[in-house]
Formats: sequence, C-alpha cells, structure tokens
Amino acid sequence: MSNLLSSANGIPLQEYGVTETAGKFGGLTLSQDTIYFEKLGHFHREVIPERRVHAKGSGAYGYFEVTADMTKYCKAKFLNEVGKQTPVFARFSLVVGERGSSDVARDVRGFALKFYTEEGNWDMVGNNTPIFFISDAIRFPDLIHAMKRHPQTNLVDPTTAWDFWSSVPESTHQVLMLFTDRGIPDGYRHMNGYGSHTFKWVNDKNEVTWVKFHFKTEAGIKCLLSSDPKHFGVLDDPDYSSRDLYEHIANNKEACWKAYVQLMPYDDAWTYKIDPFDLTRVWSHKDYPLIEYGRLVLNRNPTNYHAEVEQVAFSPANFVPGIEPSPDKVLQGRLYSYMDSQFYRLCKNYTTLPINCPYRVKIQNYHRDGITHTSNGENKPTYWPNSFGGPNPDPAYNRSEYKLRDTNVGRYPTVEDKQDYFTQPGCLYRNVLKEDERQRVITNIAGSLSFVSSDQVKARAIKNFYMVDKDLGTQLAQKLDIKVDFT
Ligand code: NDP
Repeated sequence: MSNLLSSANGIPLQEYGVTETAGKFGGLTLSQDTIYFEKLGHFHREVIPERRVHAKGSGAYGYFEVTADMTKYCKAKFLNEVGKQTPVFARFSLVVGERGSSDVARDVRGFALKFYTEEGNWDMVGNNTPIFFISDAIRFPDLIHAMKRHPQTNLVDPTTAWDFWSSVPESTHQVLMLFTDRGIPDGYRHMNGYGSHTFKWVNDKNEVTWVKFHFKTEAGIKCLLSSDPKHFGVLDDPDYSSRDLYEHIANNKEACWKAYVQLMPYDDAWTYKIDPFDLTRVWSHKDYPLIEYGRLVLNRNPTNYHAEVEQVAFSPANFVPGIEPSPDKVLQGRLYSYMDSQFYRLCKNYTTLPINCPYRVKIQNYHRDGITHTSNGENKPTYWPNSFGGPNPDPAYNRSEYKLRDTNVGRYPTVEDKQDYFTQPGCLYRNVLKEDERQRVITNIAGSLSFVSSDQVKARAIKNFYMVDKDLGTQLAQKLDIKVDFT
C-alpha cells in the first residue's frame, strides 16, 4: 500500500507502461484507457509561462540573522533584536536568457530574497549590481526587447542592444559595469547583491531614513575570465552557476553574505549632489558609508525545482511595516508590474502556493475564488465592512506620511543635466578599476561592439564612452578601427 502508484484521483493503478487495446495484435487503443489520457494530459500542461525576464534561476533556503541593532531606524519586527533569525528563500537568475539559457552569459544577475517574517513576507528583489540601465520604469519593455532575440532571425543581436544603450545614455553606467569582470560572476556564491533602489526605513516614531541594501559575499568576489586558463571549459557549461550552488549546499557547506545598509537622513535627499532616487546612480560610500547589520546564510537545497524555484513569486511591493518604497521611478513601476506578471504566470492565488505563502502569519482577507489551493476563506464574510466577525484593518499600520515637494503633473526626465550620465561611470573607470581590469573592459566592449552591424550605432556607443573617459573612447575607436567625431 505505502508505495502504490495511483491516479491523480487516488485510484490504484495496475499498469503504467502499456496502453489498453482491443485485440493483442494490431489492436486499437481504447478511449476507456484513462490512465493513458491522464498521463498525457498532465504532460501536455507541465510548462507554465516563462518569466519574461529572469527565466533561468537557482534557489536555496536559509536564514537572515540580525548582527547590529537597527531599531533606531526601522521598526520591522524581524530586525528588532540582535541574534534574531528569519527564514529566507533566495533565487538567483540571469535577466535576459530563456529558461534553458547559459549561466555564464555576460548579463546582470538577479538577487531576490523572500524573508518569511512574523509580520508577513518581505521581498528584496535586487540584482548583483547597485544600479540599472534605466531611470524610468516605462523604458523597461524597450530595454528588454532590445536585449532579447531579434524578431525576425530569433538570434541574440548585439546591434539592437547597443542601439538602445547608446541612444539612452543613462544606461552607460550599467553597461560599463556589465562589461567589467563582474559581468560574468564565478557562480552565484561569488557575487554581491544589492537592493539597488532607495527604500525608506521607518522607526516606531514614524521617522523616515532613506536606505540602500547591500549584501557582500563572504566567499569574495570572483569572476570568470575567458583569458584565465583555470576557467577553461567552464564557459561551455550552461549550468555552471546552478551546479555550483546546488553542489556546494549538498556538500553541507553554507553560502553566506554580510548585510549592510547605507543610510541617508531624510532631509539630505533634497540637497544631495545627485538625485538619490535615480536607479542609474550610486550613493558614494564616502558620503554614506556601509553599516553592517546582518548576515544571510543559505544552507538547504530545494526538494523540487518547479514547486519551489520556478513557482516562487517575488514582488518589490511586498513590504513589512517599517520598510516602504521611495519615489524611485523604476521602483514605483515595479510595485505594479511584478504582481501583474505573477497573476499571468501563476494565476491570482499564487500567494497560497507553499513557497510563496507567508506561513508565519494568519492570512485573513476578502479575496475569493479563482483557482484555489486552500479553504477559500471557508464560511467567513466575503465583503467589508461586515457585522459578522470578518477581519478589520488597523490604522496603526498606516505608512509614513509623504509630502509632495512639487504638485505639478507632467512627464519629467529623471536627469536634468545630461553630463551627469557620465560622472559616476568615469569614477568607476578611472578610480575603481585597476589597469588590467581597464584593459579587459576595453576588450570586452570592443568584442561585443564588433558584432554590431551598424557603424552609426558603434560610433554613438563609443562617443558615450568617450564622455565617460577620453582614453576609454579613444582606445575603443582604435580597436574597432572606426572614425568617431568626438566634438
Ligand atoms: P568607493 O571606492 O568607495 O566604491 C567603489 C566600489 O566599487 C567598491 O566598494 C566596490 O563595491 C565596487 N567595485 C569594485 N570593482 C568593481 C567592478 N569591477 N564593477 C563594479 N563595481 C566595482 O567609491 P564610491 O562609493 O564613490 O563609488 C565609485 C564608483 O564605484 C561609483 O561611481 C560606481 O561606479 C562604483 N560602485 C559604487 C558602489 C556604491 O554603492 N557606492 C557600489 C558598486 C560600485 P562593492 O563594495 O559593493 O563590491
């Protein structure tokens, strides 16, 4: 009985490898062979819609531990005690490639964490870079279309990617970072994670501090370099990062990151030298130093890829009391788009799937029906307000008040001074990268640009890099043997 094969309906099966036919020789399959129809019917429906971005990923369970008191800044209960641990599920991914694509492509990596806190789930849906290509969410579909396969050839086409990037110079900082060594991390354990956006931390007096989240790998940053003989063969393994993470944890080892924040006093935001809500720029460590406050440890592999890694659904809109959005225009757009895409991918009740369920709290609300996996609210009232004991909101959970500084309505560019697109990438190129890294970034960019079919696009891209640094632009033009008007 214990190991008996059954149908989806629990009926014991007597056979699974032979269809039922009328006649032994030349027999026709019978429509009463419901074992066959059920088996094939399930098989045909196994694939759910692929994530439009971040399709290829790996996941692991672990915990977050508080290592420093942050209650002065944030009232979130999972942060209210040094030593407190909160269960976490992490998913790492590539942005552009499809579900079966290569782990070792040059691409931004996703770094998404679900914290199962005692006040519901907080998702930190970040990347391995502290910035991104765009400063306004409305540009996201164009960015991704340009980086995905060509509509006619279905080939990955550097011409479209460089056409978009070079026409939208705010992307230069992220493009430069992508073509440094960090553009191909040596697996997911050897990269940092960043919340990237600015968020609010709110304390129990409702005082707001702007915050950026950083997770620094304890294993150290390591990158895959095609020129390094140690990496021979690695770049041919499409599952390199997934395999590394899974095997590391299967061998009873932990993958760990130290958690830091940068904190900016509320009023600084209006006078800081850059727009602190612009996702294409960082807050300098010199202005807002990193403060260590926690540790992320991953130590358990999923038992089922589809149920856990594929069906996990993150959303930057999943905040717990004490963490709130900032006016970052890309974050504001993401607050809407994740839930909408999960509705499409997993249907409306996706938060009831075990991997997504905020299992440490009791979920009580007035959402009903759809495809349900739970008791659907049993016999409780289905409307609010009601006189029959349904759940009520509590004003104590109001978000902090936010005063608009400008009440005009319009479509305003994020960056007013276009020169500013190039200041921070210039700092990265000149002050952060070492000479050998600078040489590799030039080789990596030139290698990619050499596949671009349009000289006009090449020249525009090189001109942007010239604005970053004259030497960078000049060297690229020489390497690609192209005349660029730098005036
Ligand atoms: P810092 O010298 O204090 O910071 C430089 C940071 O650059 C390092 O701490 C490291 O960040 C990061 N870094 C090192 N190598 C690379 C690389 N190959 N690709 C991407 N990042 C790298 O100066 P600032 O804070 O003033 O920043 C200077 C420039 O550094 C910025 O314009 C930006 O381009 C880049 N940067 C800044 C970060 C920030 O949050 N301030 C974060 C990452 C990059 P980490 O410690 O996170 O590994």
